Amino acid sequence: MKKKLVLSLGSNLGNRYAYIRQAITYIEECFAAPCVCSSYYTTPPWGETEQAQFINMALYIETHQSMDKCLTQLQAIELKMGRVKTKKWGPRSIDIDILFYEDNQVITEALTVPHPHMHERVFVLKPVCDIVPDFFHPVLKVTMKNLLRELVDDSMLFCN
Ligand code: AMP
Repeated sequence: MKKKLVLSLGSNLGNRYAYIRQAITYIEECFAAPCVCSSYYTTPPWGETEQAQFINMALYIETHQSMDKCLTQLQAIELKMGRVKTKKWGPRSIDIDILFYEDNQVITEALTVPHPHMHERVFVLKPVCDIVPDFFHPVLKVTMKNLLRELVDDSMLFCN
């Protein structure tokens, strides 16, 4: 049976919209399925604040692939798009995070799913609520829309 995969995408280098659109195309090609996409949001940088604003969005796709295979493929897309590893929270042409893979819970060296910080960040939760507001967080046991309602993150966020 196909698995529900929820991803968060972000870009703050160069033509950010083009990077996001290109990543979506690559994801649809490599998973051979259409994505359900959120709106795009302009958001302030997190952590390292002396850098350009991000464009963030979320997408939902269904796949037969394992979680590890998904990560490998998404990392290959990041590399293909010229993602260069700089410092933590530094600028990036494209960042693709796995937020959820069904209701699976995994903590390994390579992967933590559900993403451990997603519920703290409005730039993740707001786009996620565009596409899967009733998705149930398997660890926190609360829906996305209720997580957003309870969120204490007052950073400004503009819907494009
Ligand atoms: P980042 O710099 O945010 O792209 O982090 C990439 C690193 O985080 C990679 O080494 C991944 O193996 C690891 N990682 C851990 N959990 C996740 C996740 N849920 N989604 C994507 N990458 C993850």
